[in-house]
Amino acid sequence: MTHAPVPVFVYHSVSVDPPPWIAPFTVHPHAFAEQLGLLADDGRVIVPLRRLVEAMRGGPPLPPRSAVLTFDDGFADFHSTVAPLLAAQQLPATLYVTTGAVSGPGAPDREGSRGSLFPPAAMLTWRQVAELDALGVEIGGHTRTHPQLDTLPRRHAREEIEGCKSRLQDTLGHPVHSFAYPHGYSSPSVRRLVSEAGWTSATAVRLAFSSGGDEPLRIARLMVRADTGRERFRSWSRGTGAPVAPFPEGTRTTAWRAYRRLRAGVHRPYAALPRQSDT
Ligand SMILES: [Zn+2]
Repeated sequence: MTHAPVPVFVYHSVSVDPPPWIAPFTVHPHAFAEQLGLLADDGRVIVPLRRLVEAMRGGPPLPPRSAVLTFDDGFADFHSTVAPLLAAQQLPATLYVTTGAVSGPGAPDREGSRGSLFPPAAMLTWRQVAELDALGVEIGGHTRTHPQLDTLPRRHAREEIEGCKSRLQDTLGHPVHSFAYPHGYSSPSVRRLVSEAGWTSATAVRLAFSSGGDEPLRIARLMVRADTGRERFRSWSRGTGAPVAPFPEGTRTTAWRAYRRLRAGVHRPYAALPRQSDT
């Protein structure tokens, strides 16, 4: 059975002046607004992530030309720049928050902006996260510190996966359901931990379209970066230019994980961000 390609876009920062470390993954606000326009021109219907997950689990079919918007890490510009643009068009989105990186009042000493592996950047405050939740943005989890989960000892990975869920639920006062793997990295045992912690969906990167046949704990996403040109985005919007999940995990992914595990064991190099080649 073939499935219609569903682009699930992952953004990080949407800003004019990001810190250098996040600049390659930052989209200019004008480009972001243009991309929303391209999706509308192509008749894409932005659906909540949960609609896609329900379709994967045998629920109601999606509109024929669906797309999903997701945002990783919890940069402050989501509140100042992205949320107003989404609200103006009443577009749903999921924001995956790295709980240890949330800044400002309400962040315990052991967390705050230095409670994560990110270099300094303007991050959301807990108050802003709560405001976004009240506005209808889906708040999801992205671990506490943003490690490469598939290279961690199991106990440590579980703390990251469960800890961010309880922190978000304590703050928001309701369950949260959606998780995103830092750097997009997971493994069968990481996915099991995510499921055991009660997360009902999890997004990866994979540089591919998702679909109604994709795996709820390994949803494929397309990363929009500073160098994602108009033509590439338009091609994705039209459902071309990338493979459609589900597809089997390649030997390349497995070999790359083995390499990263080895490096993590020796140097603990917690690089803070995904690379284009890391699928
Ligand atoms: Zn991230």
